[in-house]
Amino acid sequence: MNNELFLLSPQNLIKKINNMGLNFRKNIAMQVNEIISNDYISIYDYINNYNDKVIVIAAMICDEFDIDILYNELLSLGVKKENIKYIPLEYFYTNKKIKEDSLIEYDDINYLSYLEICINDFCNMNCKGCSHFANLAPKNFANFEQIEKDFIRLRQIFSHIDKTRIMGGEPLLNPDLIKYIVMIKQNFPYTDLRIVTNGILLKNISKELLECINENDVMIDISVYPPLVNKMDSIIKKLREKNVKVFIENIGKFKPILLNKKRMYPYKELRDCNCINLREGYLASCPLVFTIQYINDNYNNKYNYTTNKINIYKKNITAKDIKKQLKKPFELCNYCAHYRDDLNFFEWEQRVKNCKLEDWVSEE
Ligand code: SF4
Ligand code: SF4
Repeated sequence: MNNELFLLSPQNLIKKINNMGLNFRKNIAMQVNEIISNDYISIYDYINNYNDKVIVIAAMICDEFDIDILYNELLSLGVKKENIKYIPLEYFYTNKKIKEDSLIEYDDINYLSYLEICINDFCNMNCKGCSHFANLAPKNFANFEQIEKDFIRLRQIFSHIDKTRIMGGEPLLNPDLIKYIVMIKQNFPYTDLRIVTNGILLKNISKELLECINENDVMIDISVYPPLVNKMDSIIKKLREKNVKVFIENIGKFKPILLNKKRMYPYKELRDCNCINLREGYLASCPLVFTIQYINDNYNNKYNYTTNKINIYKKNITAKDIKKQLKKPFELCNYCAHYRDDLNFFEWEQRVKNCKLEDWVSEE
């Protein structure tokens, strides 16, 4: 391999990568303000002067650094495919020194960027227009053994999942939550594990759950809806005092998630549909694939259109096959409001027994 290497990495990893034992000629700037330092050159300098040399990238995916997007962007800018190499993720979690021949090709990265599991679909908030149709969901919990089996299978296909979110409905209602945390971390120890909650139950969170959250380095993603806005500060303060990592998002408005009429999905590949969901042996690019059933059961099969569920137990299926299939639009996408920016938002309201189809469907 050519021994002149260029590093393209998020800022927070640069020092770590440099300490791993590789020498880099320069860093490639991801942001214009990085070029101010002599350590950096722009991607255009690289393309014009060094395009026959290797760019090294961390095989890690994070919010500001999605390796799939980055890879395609580099190719579209003219970087040669054979000159893009990755540092395997495990080197970031061990003290092993990396050598040039440990670098891997894009095609050898079998990581999944994101995964959601819904451990119960019902919720204690019941927001009008809930995107998971929690208001219509039965009061059942997911089957832990099935999800555990599915994770063991996923581990045979993917060597890493970058971010895994345990969701609902409201996941804190599920008495098996600790079992889920432990099981997921056993299968994917480096995953950025999150619990997504509306926060109602956080003030009475048990000592055991808190310990498990801390021991397994889990972050709590709190979606704060209007009824809890004034109570959230004290809840968050208490969690932070116990060293729990918290991410907060305020949500006061909702958008329709379904269209009243068919509008052809405008893209050849799915765009921004990255909420990859796992349910009963299948993966799908969004939860709607599974939860649309609640609308169909309650409103005369109104959206009984084909979806795209990928059977993870299919013989010889690979990470690449799955990722390719997850990008394919399907018939239900023609009735989905997800990608529409022109629809009116509505204010948060609660809907317990008085739901209507219009709570989810745009008027036009
Ligand atoms: S908090 Fe609201 S939006 Fe979130 S799952 Fe519950 S009902 Fe749905
Ligand atoms: S466009 Fe398709 S994949 Fe994307 S959210 Fe809608 S139904 Fe799901």
